[in-house]
Amino acid sequence: IITLDHVDKYYGDFHVLRDVNLAVRSGERIVICGPSGSGKSTMIRCINQLEHHQKGRIVVDGVEVGHGHKSLDTVRREVGMVFQSFNLFPHLTVLQNCTLAPMKVRGMAAAEAREIAMKYLARVRIPDQANKYPGQLSGGQQQRVAIARALCMNPKVMLFDEPTSALDPEMVKEVLDTMIALAEDGMTMLCVTHEMGFARQVADRVIFMDKGEIIEQDAPEAFFANPRSERTRAFLGQIL
Ligand code: ATP
Ligand code: MG
Repeated sequence: IITLDHVDKYYGDFHVLRDVNLAVRSGERIVICGPSGSGKSTMIRCINQLEHHQKGRIVVDGVEVGHGHKSLDTVRREVGMVFQSFNLFPHLTVLQNCTLAPMKVRGMAAAEAREIAMKYLARVRIPDQANKYPGQLSGGQQQRVAIARALCMNPKVMLFDEPTSALDPEMVKEVLDTMIALAEDGMTMLCVTHEMGFARQVADRVIFMDKGEIIEQDAPEAFFANPRSERTRAFLGQIL
């Protein structure tokens, strides 16, 4: 459902993604880890067109991205994104945050959008917060709203960029539990996270990035038991 084929990206002179190749099949759960500055967020942001790559091809659901409106529409409709910093609209209620895109992008009627929003707010276990504003919620609750909001678009794939790293420890679990439930439902997921317990539990593949390159990727058991590269070993030594 997502293919990156020899992708390179630069910020000015800085070569941030180096010949990145990745194929994500429908239903796969992939965890991406790596040191700060290794290009994890940049790769995710290129997939959903918050950034643009310079070389190679990125194809999402059969449409090459980075070439005009058609691909931007595909990404908006089919790719859900959850950020480290929640990125909810502060002046809208939880419910309005969830109904906005389905109404604007999918042209859904308000009543139907509300019904779907309540379904997903129940799924992330905060239907009782629907009429509050984001500022009235805890970080963990806000992040679960962000997940529900993304799900309201009925995306084919969900991208997560360190969804728990801005949370207090006691709220990490509630967000991870939501993500685990989503994985168990069969959602295709590409998650940047250093939650290695989550990786072991749900990932089909763990990918290690360093200095803009994918250094290695493997099933979690093999990845953690025998990392092949010295750089992966050093990284895992620091975080585990
Ligand atoms: P972290 O774990 O800290 O989130 P990351 O792996 O997500 O790191 P990126 O945010 O993708 O890393 O950044 C990769 C590199 O690109 C970093 O060296 C960063 O300083 C640089 N970079 C990121 N965004 C920009 C930008 N808009 N302009 C210039 N350089 C940038
Ligand atoms: Mg990042």
